[in-house]
Amino acid sequence: MQSQKKHTPTFSFELFPPKTPEGMEKLKVTISELNKLNPAYFSVTYGAGGSTQDRTFATVDHLRECGINTAPHLSCIGSHRDEIMEILNHYRDQGISRIVALRGDMPSGMGGEPGDFRYANELVEFIRKETGDHFYLEVAAYPEIHPQATTAEADLDNFKRKVDAGANSAITQYFYNADAYCRFIEDCEKRDIEIPVVPGIMPINNFVQLARFSDASGTEIPRWLRQRLEGYGDDIDSIRSYGMDVVTRLCEQLLEAGAPGLHFYTMNQVGPSSQLWKNLGIKG
Ligand code: FAD
Repeated sequence: MQSQKKHTPTFSFELFPPKTPEGMEKLKVTISELNKLNPAYFSVTYGAGGSTQDRTFATVDHLRECGINTAPHLSCIGSHRDEIMEILNHYRDQGISRIVALRGDMPSGMGGEPGDFRYANELVEFIRKETGDHFYLEVAAYPEIHPQATTAEADLDNFKRKVDAGANSAITQYFYNADAYCRFIEDCEKRDIEIPVVPGIMPINNFVQLARFSDASGTEIPRWLRQRLEGYGDDIDSIRSYGMDVVTRLCEQLLEAGAPGLHFYTMNQVGPSSQLWKNLGIKG
């Protein structure tokens, strides 16, 4: 983990754009509370094929109006070059200088038109070609291997393509096994990948929802953890309290091992991420 230790730690929060005006009002309160913790930035997810484009823009607008450092996610699958360019120009005009560049997954029922980009490395290459060094580019990394990867080796090679195309930094898919992250970093070092790889942290709040997300994203919930959480049944308080202990310990292990920060998947909630932040003594 030598290569990770030299980076200045970055602590950040991820939001998703709400579907309703009421959701947006609630999110404004969440943002204001989480911003008191002084994160490096907030990122805002974006639906592939532009499915949540306007809602992402509205959330980003609000963050910018509050003077908060913002990193919109931008996924490319199903999009054409001119559409992506329009979005990049929009963000550049807004003074945004950080983007999370992704391939994304086509939502089911949106048709098979693949657009001009097949993989995220092509998006990174395009952004660099068209906008030079204006944007600091984050990309996704998968310590437990992307579910569509043919092999673990191929997945690492594909990660390197994004780095070689000009990614500055990476955020991982969430995981509950610190060793998977440490091994991933060692594999990166063997490939001379030296950009910061910031672990994505998913607080444990709701077991059914977590199990569903984990199946879709290829994240392993270790047997010992699954059994404990399942055993609590509908006892939400016990799930949250046990989950908080487990995730606090995970974060401590990652930081002790040299992780260059943490990116919290807030699920638009103040409580779990801010509690973790406090447990870890993060100053922001
Ligand atoms: P890629 O890096 O393109 O990889 C996708 C798959 O293709 C991998 O299996 C990879 O090994 C393979 N591959 C990559 N390049 C090549 C190549 N050149 N040749 C052959 N195979 C290749 N989704 C959203 O829709 N919106 C979001 O806002 C969003 N935010 C995310 C944030 C983070 C931090 C993470 C980790 C994921 C996020 N996702 C989001 C989910 C992500 O879009 C999916 O995991 C998607 O399936 C892959 O996107 P990617 O950018 O990692 O793709």
